[in-house]
Amino acid sequence: MNSSVVVQKTASTAMENYAEGSKRSVGDQQQPVVLSRYESQKRRDWNTFGQYLKNQRPPVSLSQCNSNHVLEFLRYLDQFGKTKVHLHGCVFFGQPDPPAPCTCPLRQAWGSLDALIGRLRAAYEEHGGSPENNPFGNGAIRVFLREVKECQSKARGIPYKKKKKKKINPIKLVHDELKNPRQTTNFGPPKEIEMDSGRFFAPQE
Ligand SMILES: [Zn+2]
Repeated sequence: MNSSVVVQKTASTAMENYAEGSKRSVGDQQQPVVLSRYESQKRRDWNTFGQYLKNQRPPVSLSQCNSNHVLEFLRYLDQFGKTKVHLHGCVFFGQPDPPAPCTCPLRQAWGSLDALIGRLRAAYEEHGGSPENNPFGNGAIRVFLREVKECQSKARGIPYKKKKKKKINPIKLVHDELKNPRQTTNFGPPKEIEMDSGRFFAPQE
């Protein structure tokens, strides 16, 4: 009796550690390997994408999956976005810091989509997909992401500079993210995907 209680307790502690994303050190040899933030995000993304394919009518198997499915998936995610992207008719078009709200739609930020594709591309090959057929590495996805980047850059009045010229302070952003890591999940999609923080910086470990 006692031993089963102990086992349960250990399991739930392990789950907490997993959910926490690894603040505690792994002292107990029974605990599973604690995934990094990137690895656990990648796993969630992969599960979300798999669920998305399953929910298609008719369902799409991974071997049938092509870049069109990926593009549709990215568009589908826009409804969960939190980044204001001004339309051409909006008076705030091109203003990085509008003084008042407007009715323009919220989208997934380019940086979030770009990082997501990177994770899914890696996950696809980790799950046995071949690099040659990797739909996430398809040229159509690159073109799509570049268009989103240019469009959002103009609409939001924010130039996306090359990395070495970047003025954004990544250390501060990571710090903010650590201080308040769950702030973006309130209106997220059902599969606990953590996508759009409304920033351009996506941490990559
Ligand atoms: Zn607007």
